[in-house]
Amino acid sequence: MSKLLVIGTVAFDAIETPFGKTDKILGGAGTYIGLSASNFKNVDTGLVSIVGNDFPQEYFDLLHGKNINTEGIEVVKDGKTFFWSGKYHTNMNKRDTLVTELNVLEHFSPVVPEKYKDAEIVMLGNLHPLVQNAGLEQMTTKPKMVVLDTMDFWMDIALDDLKALLKKVDVITINDEEAQQLSGEYSLVKAAKVIHEMGPKYVVIKKGEHGALLFHEDKMFFAPALPLADVFDPTGAGDTFAGGFTGYLAQQGELSFENIKNAVIWGSNLASFTVEEFGVKRIAEVATEEVEQRLEKFKELTKFSL
Ligand code: AMP
Repeated sequence: MSKLLVIGTVAFDAIETPFGKTDKILGGAGTYIGLSASNFKNVDTGLVSIVGNDFPQEYFDLLHGKNINTEGIEVVKDGKTFFWSGKYHTNMNKRDTLVTELNVLEHFSPVVPEKYKDAEIVMLGNLHPLVQNAGLEQMTTKPKMVVLDTMDFWMDIALDDLKALLKKVDVITINDEEAQQLSGEYSLVKAAKVIHEMGPKYVVIKKGEHGALLFHEDKMFFAPALPLADVFDPTGAGDTFAGGFTGYLAQQGELSFENIKNAVIWGSNLASFTVEEFGVKRIAEVATEEVEQRLEKFKELTKFSL
């Protein structure tokens, strides 16, 4: 059994899309990553995060039901769980953040449980780069692969910290606009080259409903997103991708370029479920057979013979 350590937010989200609105529901990057990775057998996933005492037991039960180890989730007595609220318009690739209440996240200092200090794969979810680094520094054995997700917000306020951390990272997953911001290059090919030079050997650029690109040395690979008739709520798609990507690699063990290509497909496959319902509903319930069937659709989508 290989181990996957995930450091990321566990949150309450309130979401508004053209299809409806939710009150505070379970969200957070760490939650989506963990639930997505739980689709892989023989992977022991440990989630490191922080919540307040308002975080319901039923959500812990949901995570435990998916065999996600929550020993590393600190519960702050008299603290409130991180709250984020966002609104999507007709173009679901763009969203407005309505509210960000950091609450317990303001003083988050991750503590990696002893059991996960030798995890083979480390997934650093979207957080302040110093917090991500504080988690990574606790590893007692060098991980086989460190994957980092980040966003424009951290590039705006903590670019130097992010650049220092990137030197220790094997894979970065970011969206196209963030890749352009980080590199100062418009062309994604040039952007990936600049980001390679910052540290990560593999650069994954997510393009929402237009799929994801993988860059490694002079190699390039493209995975489509599955065209869906109805995208209900894109929240967590990027994190679900990261959970599928790292979960697959933790299960496989071997980190060849071919396997990393497959990991991109697995990430895209699982993300296609998340967007079909509000919040974590779909990814928390999806059956193995459905995931496998959809993988076939991915194959069909790009197969051709000249
Ligand atoms: P994604 O749609 O993949 O970008 O991720 C959405 C998740 O990120 C939501 O469930 C939020 O709880 C979480 N989130 C929103 N803002 C932040 C932030 N500043 N830091 C960490 N997590 C966040």
